[in-house]
Amino acid sequence: MVLPHAPALSLLSALLGLLAAVGAVQAATVVSVAADGRVSLAGVGDIAAGTVLELRRGDDLLGFLEATKTKAGTSIRVIAGRAEAGAQAIAIERPRIRVGFLGGPEGERVSKELAVLCPGRVVSLGGEAELDAAKLDAVVITASAPEPQVRRFVEGGGTAIVDLAVYAAWAGGEARQITATERPVVEVVAASDATRGLAVGQAFTHFGRQATRPVCRCLDKARGGGQVLLALRPGKQPVAVEHRIGKGRLLALDLLAPNGEPGYDAGSVLKWVLPGNLLARSVRYTRALSYRLKTHDEYMKLQEAVAERVKGTWVREQVGVDSGGKPIWRFRMGSLDRPSFLLDGAIHAGEWLNPYLLLDLIDYLAHVPEADYRTRWLLRHYTVLVIPMLSGSMRQESFNGCDLNRNFDFRWDDYTRGYGWRKGRALKLRGAAPFSEPEARVVRDHIWNHPVVGYVNTHMHGLQHGAMFIAPHKLAAPRRRAFDAAAKIMAAHLRDRFLWKGPRQLVFRRSAHDGRTVPFAGNWAGYQGLWAVTTELAGGSDHSLHNKEVAFEGILAFLHAVGAEFAAGKRPWLGCPRTGFARPGGHKDATALVFTRGGKQTIAYRTNRGGGTLRLALPPEGCRLADEAGKPVAWQPGGDHCLLPMDTRRRFFLCGAATRQQVLDALKRATSIDDR
Ligand SMILES: [Zn+2]
Repeated sequence: MVLPHAPALSLLSALLGLLAAVGAVQAATVVSVAADGRVSLAGVGDIAAGTVLELRRGDDLLGFLEATKTKAGTSIRVIAGRAEAGAQAIAIERPRIRVGFLGGPEGERVSKELAVLCPGRVVSLGGEAELDAAKLDAVVITASAPEPQVRRFVEGGGTAIVDLAVYAAWAGGEARQITATERPVVEVVAASDATRGLAVGQAFTHFGRQATRPVCRCLDKARGGGQVLLALRPGKQPVAVEHRIGKGRLLALDLLAPNGEPGYDAGSVLKWVLPGNLLARSVRYTRALSYRLKTHDEYMKLQEAVAERVKGTWVREQVGVDSGGKPIWRFRMGSLDRPSFLLDGAIHAGEWLNPYLLLDLIDYLAHVPEADYRTRWLLRHYTVLVIPMLSGSMRQESFNGCDLNRNFDFRWDDYTRGYGWRKGRALKLRGAAPFSEPEARVVRDHIWNHPVVGYVNTHMHGLQHGAMFIAPHKLAAPRRRAFDAAAKIMAAHLRDRFLWKGPRQLVFRRSAHDGRTVPFAGNWAGYQGLWAVTTELAGGSDHSLHNKEVAFEGILAFLHAVGAEFAAGKRPWLGCPRTGFARPGGHKDATALVFTRGGKQTIAYRTNRGGGTLRLALPPEGCRLADEAGKPVAWQPGGDHCLLPMDTRRRFFLCGAATRQQVLDALKRATSIDDR
């Protein structure tokens, strides 16, 4: 049985005027779970391998499924969270709108890019072709076409995206080409569904190149009834014009001139955003480009304005002082005793976009739309802690001249050689000791003292590398189920929305820190047992739109996947009150967290290499040792102490009747015997 999607989503989509544009009707199906845990979907014959589905029950997110190819056909498996019989499975669908293309040789590049943006959905139309609303939802035109025919198509509810030259010719005119010495800039002069993600008054570069000079095409003026969306600065000549005709819309813009790589090259970064918004609902979260403010004060004013706006939902509070004496602010939604997510920005303060991205995320979480039931569910059960700007230095190094993302206690002692700009400076950059830096201690103390289950550490790197979604090193966090699920979920959401260095689609590339072991915050957090991810974005203001969309999808997918895993009973200890402890027994590769559960203390501990025996000064009565699945592990009780095997697997030592203070004291006095 194929059910229509929840009315809330349909209504929202209708409000946004996007229903036709995105093919937003999602099919839900009912999940059956067999006694052996196998999942099947009733009534779904052909579900393509690779399809990711959400599992929903009422207003709750349960988890995610993936269809995989097997010898016997397609099978369904849970990739995060849990399946329950009777739950709904909702496929994360790609946009479905059918697009016709009408263009000659000059439109070859447009045609190629369009085919990549809307794979399998573009029909090439001959010059004589009738625009048939029954077969097409939209048409992209770069060659001359009869206006009455296009107009009829639009009146009937179609979307027509036409090059400026075609549009100008309808009135007997021509699009003008302006050759400039400076890079032409266009300003957003009106808001529309097409300009989603760009705020009125914002400007971005928009040009192509002829020989070596930048060129931009524009009109002298819009035709009657047209609303100018983009205009050249400073002359105000229209570059994008929208007409609402009948039930549809016509967007005229310069498709042919900007000939750099979309998403990547200056002048062409945002080339497909307006058409993409109509063809694929490209922008879903972002409301404006981000511009880098020059000073810390200016940024903080922006942060304060956001705090004021979200007051009532978020609390902004100071959680420390950075090495330059600047306050470190945290936004908190929810109480500190609930399972929490921690996100931070500007651990490398020169990586400018993240402090802005995180403010956008705070804004979004303050007003999550009805349709995003996944995030609404998440916020009902989890607290979110966001530190948008960990270091206020506004450059890569902290005020102390440290690389804060080398100051964490995961193979910190090994970090003796840097590369690139860090070459020859590793010993200075890593700090005098693990957590010698106040900024790193703020992160550490959150993870040590609060029930943080998931951690997101945000970065930027060179544009050429593109956006990356990175797992901790396998020696820090060997299990990647939730990370892999998040990578699949966000990839499913990102399909067919943006082009990048093309013609190819923009992705949030899944990666892992599996080369050198580096004392990254993300590695250390993963090593403590949390679910952790590091993100890398790229570029300047023009790129901020794509990058923020990618980051939103990645971060939300991570929160949803981890939230579903934890709710399904994975790593339940992470939700308990705890105290962190460094290097138990003086073992530099070991770590411990002391959890309190039902008044009893449990030490979760492990090393990241080698092994040993931990001699713990605690009376052994009532103690026991178990692995993560709860299976007993052999250990040796002494008269007044316990001898615990220690290796790279996390063990859980239940400390009998000892109080937390007694356990911490015992850890302080512990010694270790290195078996290597
Ligand atoms: Zn960085």
